[in-house]
Amino acid sequence: MSATAASVTRHDWSLAEVKALFEQPFNDLIFQAQGVHRQHFDANRVQVSTLLSIKTGACPEDCKYCPQSGHYNTGLDKEKLMEVQKVLEAAAEAKAIGSTRFCMGAAWKHPSAKDMPYVLKMVEGVKALGLETCMTLGKLDQEQTKALAAAGLDYYNHNLDTSPEFYGNIITTRTYADRLETLSYVRESGMKICSGGILGMGESLNDRAGLLIQLANLPEHPESVPINMLVKVKGTPLAEEQDVDPFDFIRMLAVARIMMPKSHVRLSAGREQMNEQMQALAFLAGANSIFYGEKLLTTGNPQADKDMLLFERLGIQPEAREEHDDEVHQAAIEQALVEQRDSKLFYDAASA
Ligand code: SF4
Repeated sequence: MSATAASVTRHDWSLAEVKALFEQPFNDLIFQAQGVHRQHFDANRVQVSTLLSIKTGACPEDCKYCPQSGHYNTGLDKEKLMEVQKVLEAAAEAKAIGSTRFCMGAAWKHPSAKDMPYVLKMVEGVKALGLETCMTLGKLDQEQTKALAAAGLDYYNHNLDTSPEFYGNIITTRTYADRLETLSYVRESGMKICSGGILGMGESLNDRAGLLIQLANLPEHPESVPINMLVKVKGTPLAEEQDVDPFDFIRMLAVARIMMPKSHVRLSAGREQMNEQMQALAFLAGANSIFYGEKLLTTGNPQADKDMLLFERLGIQPEAREEHDDEVHQAAIEQALVEQRDSKLFYDAASA
């Protein structure tokens, strides 16, 4: 396929096709991905989200990569659900430093009836600040999904993590089918889906391809596809896993871009370990979303000012919100990004 061939949105990818994409020469793959990217996006704009942990640690799930799982001793401070007011203060600060989307994550199996009213208030409050809202709270039932949508939640994040075949090696307390069910409820409720996975857990090429096939063959592609590099945390079962070849990580982004041409592909956890050249290559491969701020849940995230300097050097500009995609709003974001360099950057949930 040439880089300029019109990209088609498909939902019928086969393993052989996807492996063929992965296995082509690196330059051909990047050229193709960049060609697809330019058909649907401004190649010099990157969407910027801020992520806040609203409830950290003591999670009953056993995800082997996760420092928040109560099954492993990682020395992480456990916290109760944050107060609504503190969440709104953090959101206001995120807005002031240029984020357009505020993502709130809770380490739960699923939200409880007791917590739901607070969670809904957070959504309403963040929305009222003029930010896009996103949450990741674990498994949802239909009623909870509808309530979140009614409160104004724009995106729900629920990652598939890996292929169905490899999944049981990583998580035993929640099934793949449960995850797909939550995603179907989210879609039915009219919210947008954020769903992706993690590289570096010992998975094979087939598993990486299998994850992308699951995502791309959903009835509608997730609007946002986070691709994470495992952050190895001492105390978790995956702490000693082998590093992913950086070029294989870039290949994953490029294949995701080709298979889901209209989705935002997010360079997500693990960005701190990537040098600037690798991040630039990730944008060239079609990644067009990042998390921004000092903390990405409980693991480090590159300093926000470093991000902005890199954007500047690459001629990249932050993407405005869809509904406010006008010059005034864009100018305000850019101004805020310049001003934030000397300011206190971000509410640190892990040390609150
Ligand atoms: S990834 Fe989410 S569900 Fe799994 S242990 Fe961590 S916080 Fe819990």
